[in-house]
Amino acid sequence: MRTGGRPGRVKAARLIAGSAVVALAATGCAGEQVTGELQTVGDVAGLPVTHFESGLKDDAPKPDVQADGATDVIEDRLALASIADVTDYWDEQMPEHFGEKFARVDKLMSYDPEDEAQDVCGTSTRDMALNAFYCPKDDLVAWDRGVLLPLLRNKFGNMAISAVLAHEFGHAVQTRLGDKAGIDDGTGTIVKEQQADCVTGSYMRWIAEDESTYFELSTSDGVNEVLGALFLIRDAPGAHANERGAHGSGFDRTYAVQLGFEEGAKRCAEIDQDEVDERITEVPFKNETDQAQQGQAPITGGTMVHVQRSLDSAFSATGVDPPQIVEGDGTCEQGRSTPPVSYCEQDNEVNIDLATLEKIGQPADQVGELTGDKSPDAGLGDFAVFSEVASRYVQGIQLGVGAPTEGGQAGLRTACLVGAWAKFANNPDSGSTLYLSPGDLDEAIAELLQPRSLLAADILGHRVANGFARIEALRNGYLDGSSVCTETYT
Ligand SMILES: [Zn+2]
Repeated sequence: MRTGGRPGRVKAARLIAGSAVVALAATGCAGEQVTGELQTVGDVAGLPVTHFESGLKDDAPKPDVQADGATDVIEDRLALASIADVTDYWDEQMPEHFGEKFARVDKLMSYDPEDEAQDVCGTSTRDMALNAFYCPKDDLVAWDRGVLLPLLRNKFGNMAISAVLAHEFGHAVQTRLGDKAGIDDGTGTIVKEQQADCVTGSYMRWIAEDESTYFELSTSDGVNEVLGALFLIRDAPGAHANERGAHGSGFDRTYAVQLGFEEGAKRCAEIDQDEVDERITEVPFKNETDQAQQGQAPITGGTMVHVQRSLDSAFSATGVDPPQIVEGDGTCEQGRSTPPVSYCEQDNEVNIDLATLEKIGQPADQVGELTGDKSPDAGLGDFAVFSEVASRYVQGIQLGVGAPTEGGQAGLRTACLVGAWAKFANNPDSGSTLYLSPGDLDEAIAELLQPRSLLAADILGHRVANGFARIEALRNGYLDGSSVCTETYT
């Protein structure tokens, strides 16, 4: 995010030495502590919220699938089961929705980029670390079992591997559908990527509905794993959606997965350039200063003045006495506290622990996150902090208008209102002195997926259990504005 006025003068925030651990526990707090219980709200796109370990079923058959180079490591076994399973899925869906039989993918290949180099799709496997891909000219799906798959599995769980292979099969399906998916030689990469993410979502729903022979997927943690894995392999901030190789921002990717989960494979094939132009959020940096600072504003009292002003004008139409952002230890003297940011009802204040927030607000290390070698100073980015502060500010607004402030719907309404504020701040006509820079929405989603996040929490700090609903609420507010928040989350 950027502050306006003197854009050239905004300096990158100071790095704090030795801040490897972000301290989140409050110290010396007089008020009541709230740890934030998870709560279940409604359903996940019409499916009940379920809790169990996702992955291969105990009675899953041995997949009848061969891949060049496949070994007996768990990652390859999961990959082969995923391929057998997603093939079952398309055997069913292709005739049903597109009136044709699903022709088997011709070649499958597992490789370890650290082994002796082999040629794959015209490139050496040594240059294909952290990759899984579909090669149209050979009708080949290949995956890096040495680095990428173990990394995803360790970080997100077994379903992350299924998600990646389902995405690559999405490209194989799209090549087969051609016209029926609006695909020709001129189709932009971002359209193909959005379709592939979308059918990954529709396949995941099929598993969640217990149609799969091989896998089971819970609609809470299981779906969160899938969203988390695809979110991690988002494009870097400032990439342009229409550049070659663009996958979309994390915000765009999670949108496509959720669209497929909600509406199915046929809807995915309808994604075209017009639709993408209308809703895609991935934008290049506006200027060189932005680029140099990666769009990061420092987390200081001065920046918080801009946050305060921006929030005040975004919610001025409610007529509610605006909560004041004050520096302190992030807790309230009386009543409930949710450090490092608390809404204190008795004073109508948002009390912030600026030192802790400064650590969270350090730029993210996306490459390090992917390789497992994250910089100790890395945080989640400035907008992660501003959105947390906004999430507590809107408690005061919701109280002021007499909306219920406790429970799951209040938690989702909170995320929705933060999204609505982000949209407001991003409108050049709003007069806001803060505006979004590339990557900001992803910082909000990264923050939203953190277990401790208050972004989708009610006034008590109780969070909503499923990431699907949290992300959807933020996006609803961002795309449709604050009135949708009050109408939807009641
Ligand atoms: Zn792709």
